[in-house]
Amino acid sequence: MKSKFKNDKYKHVRGASRLLRISCRQCDSVICHYQKDGHGGLFRLYLDRISNANTALEGKGLSCPNGHLVAVRIIYEKESRPAFRLLPSAIMKKILET
Ligand SMILES: [Zn+2]
Repeated sequence: MKSKFKNDKYKHVRGASRLLRISCRQCDSVICHYQKDGHGGLFRLYLDRISNANTALEGKGLSCPNGHLVAVRIIYEKESRPAFRLLPSAIMKKILET
């Protein structure tokens, strides 16, 4: 039981998941898909929850395919988990699946 819980630790802790499509507010281009776990606002994109990225994820910033910066790389210290912190009002999100 304990190891099973750990395998999907973040999902279990945070509850329901939704698949979001993240796009640039400035130019409307799709940046990536993102699995958001739990409720509450979207302030960070954890790298392990990003999929179908249309842009490089290796840099210090996350930009849309047209080069608009939408987030900056951080390590979320509570979980030692690499993430991008979203800039205010930089992205739009659409729910694809719940
Ligand atoms: Zn853009």
